[in-house]
Amino acid sequence: MRLIILGPPGAGKGTQAARLAERLGVPQLSTGDMLRAAVTKGSPVGLAARDLIARGELVGDDIVVNCVLGRIAEPGAASGFILDGFPRTLGQARAFDQALEKAHLGLDAVLELKVVESVLLDRIIYRAREAKAAGLPVRADDNPEALKVRLEAYRTQTQPLADYYRTAGLLRTVNGLRPVDEVTSSLFAELRLQPRTADLGSLG
Ligand code: ADP
Repeated sequence: MRLIILGPPGAGKGTQAARLAERLGVPQLSTGDMLRAAVTKGSPVGLAARDLIARGELVGDDIVVNCVLGRIAEPGAASGFILDGFPRTLGQARAFDQALEKAHLGLDAVLELKVVESVLLDRIIYRAREAKAAGLPVRADDNPEALKVRLEAYRTQTQPLADYYRTAGLLRTVNGLRPVDEVTSSLFAELRLQPRTADLGSLG
């Protein structure tokens, strides 16, 4: 299956994408993770992206589109993928559609996690605190200032993608405010997948 998961920062995309990827046996492709790995490595992509990420701004379309196309051309993605954090602009979505068409591939669904903005700051602060307590590095952009910029980028540049994919008949919207396992169950139901006990984190 070829899927996209859409939602604002802190909506739980990463957690849900990991569960779907596991269940479907396809890779979870997170552009945020790819870019952070590039920053850590100090590659040209990382150098171009580092300050933008820390400020909460979007990295250029060409850079991320190339990263994603490279990854989906790898053998691991032959049976599908779940994209987490991409596309984030209409330019990225259109470029991606063109590339898929050229490869005679199509998307199966675009899953949207719907949440109200007021919970996002709390979730991100919680995530930063948890990471720190576990001795893990705190993301450079998990602070109120960068989050404001990330939310603004989401609102103005990414939110319009819901309409874009609705028009294409691909959008499936799920309420992301409920407990994690319930969100997973709803996503599985949208894809007509039977949930297994091991798919739900708190049980498995
Ligand atoms: P979140 O969705 O929690 O804000 P991500 O890990 O998906 O975080 O992305 C972190 C940052 O990486 C973004 O704020 C942006 O700077 C950059 N980034 C990730 N994906 C993209 C993309 N598709 N286009 C542009 N920038 C991106």
